[in-house]
Amino acid sequence: MRKRWWLGLILLLGLFRAEAESCLEKYQSLAKAYYSLQKSEQKKYHHNWEKLIEKFQALANAYPSCSKADDAQFMVGRLWYECYLVSGLYSDAINSLSAFYRLVEKYPKSSLSDDALLYRGKIYLKLNKTEQAGDEFKKILSEYPQGDCVKSARKYLKSLSSKSPPPEKAPLRSNDAIALILSSGNPELTREPGNKNLAKLIQIRYWSAPSYTRVVFDLDRKTSFSAPHLLKPDPELGTPPRLYIDLYQTRLGEEFAQNYPYKNRCYELPIGDGLLKRARAGQYQPEVVRVVLDMESIQEFKYFTLPASEDAGFRIVIDVYGEKAQLPPQKTRPPSQPSPPPKPAREKRLVIVIDPGHGGKDPGAVGPYKTREKDVVLKISRYLAQELKAIFPQAKIILTRYNDRYLSLVERTAKANALEADLFISIHCNANPDRRAYGIETYYLDNTTDRAVLRLAARENFVSEKIMESAGSEINQILADLATTSKVNESIPLAKSIQKELVKTLSQKYSYIKDLGVKKAPFWVLTGAVMPCVLVEVSFISNPREEKRLASSSYQKLVARGIARGVKSWLKTSGTLTSVVY
Ligand SMILES: [Zn+2]
Repeated sequence: MRKRWWLGLILLLGLFRAEAESCLEKYQSLAKAYYSLQKSEQKKYHHNWEKLIEKFQALANAYPSCSKADDAQFMVGRLWYECYLVSGLYSDAINSLSAFYRLVEKYPKSSLSDDALLYRGKIYLKLNKTEQAGDEFKKILSEYPQGDCVKSARKYLKSLSSKSPPPEKAPLRSNDAIALILSSGNPELTREPGNKNLAKLIQIRYWSAPSYTRVVFDLDRKTSFSAPHLLKPDPELGTPPRLYIDLYQTRLGEEFAQNYPYKNRCYELPIGDGLLKRARAGQYQPEVVRVVLDMESIQEFKYFTLPASEDAGFRIVIDVYGEKAQLPPQKTRPPSQPSPPPKPAREKRLVIVIDPGHGGKDPGAVGPYKTREKDVVLKISRYLAQELKAIFPQAKIILTRYNDRYLSLVERTAKANALEADLFISIHCNANPDRRAYGIETYYLDNTTDRAVLRLAARENFVSEKIMESAGSEINQILADLATTSKVNESIPLAKSIQKELVKTLSQKYSYIKDLGVKKAPFWVLTGAVMPCVLVEVSFISNPREEKRLASSSYQKLVARGIARGVKSWLKTSGTLTSVVY
């Protein structure tokens, strides 16, 4: 017995050592990658920074007690900062600020914490936030008086105090009704809302394109809110068009204070994407948060809500459409040169967005042999892109993700809307606790009372079956609100065509291909899409036979071929996309 106990301990120690070594090795190899990125031309590309940052962050998260965890977290901040120096993007600076903030919060005793504060101060200076910069430098003096950043902090503070005091804040435009309303709120209430039972607005996210922006409000729980109000621009007063929305029984989360400048008694999130100028959020009343979206232009907007799920709280999604950016005038050739065959003038190319489900931290369903849905659907999506390109050489085929990364459901449709896609196809693998279940089914967006389908929707939507079953009337409301923009009528024939060709193509090479038909379900990933959109459950990863097939590239390719054929035959017959080239 005693011997075994020792053996166990030795094994355990060995494990710890192995983990420490693996953390150390990983850190060193990432650090190497960082130095080579710094020197390379590749640093011009944002995604290279993002990739490396993701890896450092994953390391810090995976080994929180490793001796290099704080270093990895520090590198996340530093890389965002350097990325910001290259990109000039405000969001990169903000990401850097929050990464350094997390380091100080999580590892206050780390020798890097005062360096993180110094970085925060420097970033605030770059953003012209001298007051916040000063606070960071003062923190170094008070909390890390023995650290090696004291000298620099003093120098910065000295230069801040020697500068003339900042000019008085520009008086509020008396004609900006919303700013006035926001500014009349009591700032004390922002900090200490009396009622602890309020919902909390955690963050405001957005995805944007020249003529489309999706804004998502993340709350920690469901709350009631006013329908967004549109205020028209007033050229005389110089006010832009604005949308504002009141969230009742809600308070602003602390996250706003950490991440955004506080101006005129509201937090300001500069966006400036060409359509949305900025968002402003303030505690308008003790129990009401008001958010204002200042727009460049606005033609139309839509909104809907999504119930809380495992990966997100209650969400309010606002889709804003503005005027399209003007295309530059086409250059005309001098007549003496031989002219190339005339191209159709400014015709829109067919755009198809393929959405490989899941990814990153979300593996999707996992088969009995441990095949992961996220990997299979990514491969099928890549083959599908190739197949479609072969059929429609002029079309733009875009994937929502090209690698193993996590994307929220709202982000996927936002991408398709922003790209003005003509078609949106989400690829998934089915799963059932009964391993005998198998077959192929294709979905379009609609409500349903079919319990088996609701169970599937619950899984794909990241919510419990209970929520899915009880959300029936809410979903009806959402779908009714979106009825004018959603393309259900065109999605049904698309789903039918894909289902038919997929089953036919696979049946030519495989036996036991079961046609489960076209069905409707409330999938969040299809909600808010403004083009014909379908979700294909290509086979059951929970069924051993289909799992084996799904893992093979020959089956993946054939699935892709079947779907592509379905798209082709739909395009031929639907007659809806006559004006696009492909
Ligand atoms: Zn799925």
